Amino acid sequence: MAKPSKLTFVNGKPTLVPYDQVTRKDNDKAYNQARDVNQTKYVNFYHSGLWRSARKDVNQRDYGLCQRCGSQLNLIDHIVPSKDDWEDRLNPDNLQGLCDDCHRVKTKREWIKHNKGANRYMSINVVCGLPGSGKTTYVNSHKTKHDLIYDYDSLMQSLTGLPSHEKNFDVHDYIILFFEQMLRKLKAEQTFDNVWIILTYPDERLDNLLSPYHHINHILLDVDRQTCIDRLNNDKRFNQSLISVFNDFENKNFDNFKRVTG
Ligand SMILES: [Zn+2]
Repeated sequence: MAKPSKLTFVNGKPTLVPYDQVTRKDNDKAYNQARDVNQTKYVNFYHSGLWRSARKDVNQRDYGLCQRCGSQLNLIDHIVPSKDDWEDRLNPDNLQGLCDDCHRVKTKREWIKHNKGANRYMSINVVCGLPGSGKTTYVNSHKTKHDLIYDYDSLMQSLTGLPSHEKNFDVHDYIILFFEQMLRKLKAEQTFDNVWIILTYPDERLDNLLSPYHHINHILLDVDRQTCIDRLNNDKRFNQSLISVFNDFENKNFDNFKRVTG
């Protein structure tokens, strides 16, 4: 009778071997080799002139101050850790000055993310719907204590002083820029229980920025146009510029959205 065999990894490849063959040594060797290569890469990077000069530039840009609390910075930190995002290790947008205390807090959060990821996962909810469909009410009734709410329209209004749903395209760029930075930080830290992104209809640039994220819920407040107009009239929130918003809305695609009634 042939010897029973077992499936195991030899030099990183799944292989059938006799059940009593010891393969751990091979695995350990392959593992150690990979680790040495990686560690050499890190050690070399942190000793490189490129890193020294990037550190100097960021120190200058950040005025020698911790970007969280404003006290004197002690180190230059990778916002997305270099082990997660090797490509961005020298990108100044991914670097920030931190003091030791704030760095400790950040490292602890990252540890939680890596080690308890399965239990605690931040979900991102994109909430769309016509003006008057009840997006804010929906979010207010579903949010938890430690959430982040990014409301596109109220940001636009606070930054421009324009009436609700009027748009300044230069300011739009700044709001998206803020969104980009916000996502970068969220990716590294998973700081919140939920992130709510409120906007009338999906925006292509926002969607592209969100595309690398899993755990995204798309929610559409499915309320007909007339009901929304009546509600807005009742609250004296209706203005003529909303008509074009309503018209644009009708041409948008909500196929991947879960429909809820507000
Ligand atoms: Zn600090």
